[in-house]
Amino acid sequence: MRTKLVAGNWKLNGSRDANHRLVAGILAHADEAAAAEILLCPPYVYLSQVSELIAGSAVRLGGQNVAVAASGAYTGEISAAMLQDAGCSHVIIGHSERRSMFGDTDEVVAAKFRAAHQQGLTPILCIGESQQERESGVTMEIIDRQVGAVLDAAGIEPFADSIVAYEPVWAIGTGLTANPEQAQEVHAHVRSIFAARDANIAADLRILYGGSVKGANALQLFTMEDIDGGLIGGASLDSDEFLAICRAAAGTKLDD
Ligand code: PEP
Repeated sequence: MRTKLVAGNWKLNGSRDANHRLVAGILAHADEAAAAEILLCPPYVYLSQVSELIAGSAVRLGGQNVAVAASGAYTGEISAAMLQDAGCSHVIIGHSERRSMFGDTDEVVAAKFRAAHQQGLTPILCIGESQQERESGVTMEIIDRQVGAVLDAAGIEPFADSIVAYEPVWAIGTGLTANPEQAQEVHAHVRSIFAARDANIAADLRILYGGSVKGANALQLFTMEDIDGGLIGGASLDSDEFLAICRAAAGTKLDD
């Protein structure tokens, strides 16, 4: 059985005060969502602060990005070992904002995935089509290409302890959400790509949905067969909204 996961991607948001309030708000009610896993991904400079705030709780910590290199002359980069040192168990790889704005090609994404996994972090591999690609009817081809690039570079084995997040780019931060059937169709396709290589790994692989998830639409999404939780942007900055999503994930699990 796949335990649902709700991951908050804070992106370029936060301050020590705001983080303190947000994490306190989440921790105050996190036990109501104990059947789901909760992960927080703050900006790098706040990893240590958030690590201390969540110490002793079941909430986990993740990075938003990672360097390909392990060390050396790479100004501004943060390695997988450094993320781990700061308390991270997970890292987001290949978010569409990194792909579109920071040069994370399929090859770079595959290299980051390998660097993270080799260090013992759980990569959350983000994939998803743009609005134009969906309208052109090439969604599944884009998904095949993005997943295939990582599978070809890393093989199937690392996916025994990795996570995939399907995030249609047109739904990220736009208020538009893929409806549950649209999302399920892609999630089932993603699982079938992995199943073609290893049925057991595919069956256990957690595939998150991301794109304007809120308390109001989370349960419908999380009830779909192949949706194993969410990667949450905007709504992860509001403790009430984020907790509502976590409770939806936990409730779905309890009904299983
Ligand atoms: C994201 O950036 O991963 C995301 C899903 O953002 P939002 O929830 O704001 O659409």
